[in-house]
Amino acid sequence: MKKILGSCPSCHALNKIEASDVKKQPICGKCKTPLAFHDLVQDVTTEEFDKIVRNSSIPIIVDFWASWCGPCQQYGPTFQMVSNEYGGHVQFLKVNTEKNQDLAARLGVRGIPATMMIKDGKITGNIAGAMNYDQLRSWVEQNK
Ligand SMILES: [Zn+2]
Repeated sequence: MKKILGSCPSCHALNKIEASDVKKQPICGKCKTPLAFHDLVQDVTTEEFDKIVRNSSIPIIVDFWASWCGPCQQYGPTFQMVSNEYGGHVQFLKVNTEKNQDLAARLGVRGIPATMMIKDGKITGNIAGAMNYDQLRSWVEQNK
């Protein structure tokens, strides 16, 4: 049974969800608000990011993006597609750097899109620029 964490956008409770159930529109166990997943990717705030990093037992991959960034828009669907393959083995998060500048600064994000792998609270992989499907897949394989 592979579980991923889902932070509730309403009450901020941390939900444990079966990776295979994420596509069935999971809801928060506490307040019943639908959790904001796109495939297995979840948009998170700094607060939610910190909570998930503290509680996750699987590696976490993060896509740092912004709405004004063209390459980020192109990279988003690739990131989402790869999440379907690793659901439950790797937790996929997206951080909007416009809304969470503090987090991007703290993790040393200089340019976007940036992809990071975090294991046990430590950054184990960090790559700048968009990747295509195969590149992202092999990057995940090498860094997870
Ligand atoms: Zn909730």
